Amino acid sequence: MIVVLLGPPGAGKGTQGERIADALGIPKIATGDVLRAAVKAGTELGLAAKGFMDRGDLVPDEVILGIMREALAQPEQAKGVILDGVVRTVPQAEGLAAVVRALGRTLDMVLVFDIADDLLVDRLSGRTTCDTCQKPFTGLRPGAPCPDGTGGTLVRRKDDEPEAIRNRLRVYHAQTAPVLQWYVEHGANVQRIDAVGSFDEVTARALAAVRR
Ligand SMILES: [Zn+2]
Repeated sequence: MIVVLLGPPGAGKGTQGERIADALGIPKIATGDVLRAAVKAGTELGLAAKGFMDRGDLVPDEVILGIMREALAQPEQAKGVILDGVVRTVPQAEGLAAVVRALGRTLDMVLVFDIADDLLVDRLSGRTTCDTCQKPFTGLRPGAPCPDGTGGTLVRRKDDEPEAIRNRLRVYHAQTAPVLQWYVEHGANVQRIDAVGSFDEVTARALAAVRR
């Protein structure tokens, strides 16, 4: 079973992906993780990726897809895999489809985490970080002292300012709408789940969708 996860920043996709993968007894692959692993292992594609990263460039899709193909061909991935952050654009969806086909596998499901932008803005802008111990907190105001008593002050990262979050969400929607359309046009099994609720509630919905 190969499942692609799609969801906006802050929807809890990463955590839910781990939980789904654990429940199904299959691995979760995130683009960043396989990229770092390939660089560390010093594979040909890993070294190519490192070259781009060292120059501060984005690693091109062909390199990422090559690394993804090597990862998907590993025996531990035979039973299935949850792909997190692997598909963000239509070319990436096309590339992944080609990789999956070449491996003689099928993409079983695209699981979409739905949550209103306003909720995400509330959720993400409620995060602060201690300027001394760097620990993240939620529900505490910027300027408050660090609850861990490190003497630090809680600050809000620029990324977590409401306007920055709205920007990230705009980019997400602009990229994701065509990806979903592409999947629908290509007959993929697209399932949407409500990502509002406790971690356990969302996990239960995700597992119900995957097992359906
Ligand atoms: Zn602190």
